[in-house]
Amino acid sequence: MATTKEVKKNPQELSVEEKLKALFQLQTMLSKIDDIKTLRGELPLEVQDLEDEIAGLNTRIERLKGEIAELKTSIAGKKVEIEAAKSSISKYKEQQDNVRNNREYDFLSKEIEFQTLEMELCEKRIREFSEQEKEKNEEVEKCTTKLEERAKDLEAKKGELDEIIAETKQEEELLRDKAKELETKIDPRLLQSFKRIRKNSRNGLGIVYVQRDACGGCFNKIPPQRQLDIRSRKKIIVCEYCGRIMIDPELAGVTSEAKTDMTKEKTTRKRKLTTEA
Ligand SMILES: [Zn+2]
Repeated sequence: MATTKEVKKNPQELSVEEKLKALFQLQTMLSKIDDIKTLRGELPLEVQDLEDEIAGLNTRIERLKGEIAELKTSIAGKKVEIEAAKSSISKYKEQQDNVRNNREYDFLSKEIEFQTLEMELCEKRIREFSEQEKEKNEEVEKCTTKLEERAKDLEAKKGELDEIIAETKQEEELLRDKAKELETKIDPRLLQSFKRIRKNSRNGLGIVYVQRDACGGCFNKIPPQRQLDIRSRKKIIVCEYCGRIMIDPELAGVTSEAKTDMTKEKTTRKRKLTTEA
């Protein structure tokens, strides 16, 4: 982003100084919202993961139950086939007692042999299907146990998250409202580049104040003329190294550098603790 000259087309439009001030205030709001998000940490993601896993397990159990029902139907079918073969066999055996010749007797023997083989084949299938049914039932049991565990985990995590949200919701909404209001005051192009810088920066800062003659974002020294430009508050000055917008400490509401260094350290430590917990 190049330096923008102050152009006052509209009397309602903010001066560069006011814009910078609004931008810095906006960043303070956004950083606070980020802190709230850090407090929630991985919880929203963990809840989502658990919900997905539970949905997956439910689908799997439903599918297995469907397959078990199919196997039961197949087993019942094979049992019917066995009964049919049995009655054929007894019918052929009866007929064998009344045959007129050997050829007829042999023909019936072959039929009996064939039906016996059919019966054996059906029994073999029933054993296979029963085995599959048993395996699937075991899987259903395993999935159900897992499902119950995950449901318990979900309940706990959701409770934890709901609690944090309840505690921080009001604060967050207030911050979001204030941030939105500030955003309407800043012209869209400046806001867009600020947001882009902020997004690309590891510490989430798009606007920084000068600290010990250096950029407060990347700590590269600022040439004296640029420092003067920054103090004049007439132009938007960006750091030539990191691209962050730079303002003087007074505009940021900072009175002494020593004090800010202390508070900054405190917030970093606090943030570190939250992420570690
Ligand atoms: Zn910089």
